[in-house]
Amino acid sequence: MSKVLIVGAGGVGKVVVHKCAQVPEVFSEIVLASRTLARCEAIQREVLELVGRRIEVRQLDADDVSQTIQLLDELSPDLLLNVALPYQDLALMDACLARRVDYLDTANYEPPDVAKFEYSWQWAYHERFKEAGIMGLLGSGFDPGVTNVFCAYARDHLFDEIDTVDILDCNGGDHGHPFATNFNPEINIREITQNGRYWEEGEWKEIPPLSVHQDFDFPGVGVRRAYVLYHEELESLVKHLPGLKRIRFFMTFGEQYITHLKVLENVGLTRIDPIEFQGQQIVPIQFLKALLPDPASLAENYTGKTSIGCLIEGRKDGKPKRVFIYNICDHAECYREVRSQAVSYTTGVPAMVGAKMMLTKKWRGEGVFNLEQLDSLPFLEALAAHGLPWHVEER
Ligand code: NDP
Repeated sequence: MSKVLIVGAGGVGKVVVHKCAQVPEVFSEIVLASRTLARCEAIQREVLELVGRRIEVRQLDADDVSQTIQLLDELSPDLLLNVALPYQDLALMDACLARRVDYLDTANYEPPDVAKFEYSWQWAYHERFKEAGIMGLLGSGFDPGVTNVFCAYARDHLFDEIDTVDILDCNGGDHGHPFATNFNPEINIREITQNGRYWEEGEWKEIPPLSVHQDFDFPGVGVRRAYVLYHEELESLVKHLPGLKRIRFFMTFGEQYITHLKVLENVGLTRIDPIEFQGQQIVPIQFLKALLPDPASLAENYTGKTSIGCLIEGRKDGKPKRVFIYNICDHAECYREVRSQAVSYTTGVPAMVGAKMMLTKKWRGEGVFNLEQLDSLPFLEALAAHGLPWHVEER
């Protein structure tokens, strides 16, 4: 029995609330707080209708540490589950530290004015979280999140030595729009337009955006072209997979998506620095976000599947071994269950499962942790039970 404060009422937040509401024996009290109260109230109505549980809602500006501290004082939750934007991570961690509340998120901190993400800012909280006797779980979505746990499972149960890991993320779905992003457009486009980066033989290699690709046969989807991107789980996995020689992250994009993105970039609409427009300052990418479909609105007519996994090569008992550990998730089935599309679903379910691990004390620690530092088995068991079955295929 525990009380969870969920911050962020977007596409992922909605799935997290639904999934927590489905597990009343762990999440006995649920409060959803976000910048726009009306979005919290819409989720509140939907969860009452579909799950039959009434959650509490609050308005909160999570950039304001004192507001979050006030809310923690009012509610005394056991855990703060952050599914707002990466910009809010540090402010929410500060509030958790001040009131000794456990913390979980799904994406690492990003400063709004630089398109750069790395764990250094959040890892710097380790000692303070330890001294306060609280736990922070970083990156409990699908990637990062489940992909880290797949790697931990391979390290601890399938291999004696791991040489290479390719994380491969495919959305084989169709939402019917010429161009839309599947999660927050600003965060998504910042990620894709950065230089690609991967780690090989002890050093980071940087490449121009979308310049390296491979065609991969994704289970449940078929062959798709996937491009190297930098992704945050690479940074922590390099530390926690001993003997690793190379790790890369690939994501699939269709030609139409890449063409749109190039045009938007060429005309300056993906810029993150403010420009003067009719007497006021606007940030082009924020203006673009306002024009693009809200990712949550894509759900109703989305068809097809996501297929995401880790291709791992190494040795077991002296013999070479190669496995693909993956999950397939169907957009339409997600809509039937929680009125969301599969990208939000595959992020929201592991966020709930990570929270469940912490609240039931199956995962416990003082300080901040990435998921591969914890026991993979209870997490993977719960993941399958709560809607994301996973498979291991020898290749
Ligand atoms: P959305 O933009 O749909 O939702 C974000 C929500 O956060 C919105 O409701 C927004 O409020 C709220 N918010 C923003 N700023 C504040 C603030 N200052 N105070 C309070 N609330 C705020 O994003 P998604 O749901 O698509 O993504 C949520 C998170 O999940 C992101 O951090 C994203 O990077 C991460 N993610 C992780 C993945 C993984 O696999 N690990 C995959 C996909 C996403 P408002 O409604 O007012 O705009």
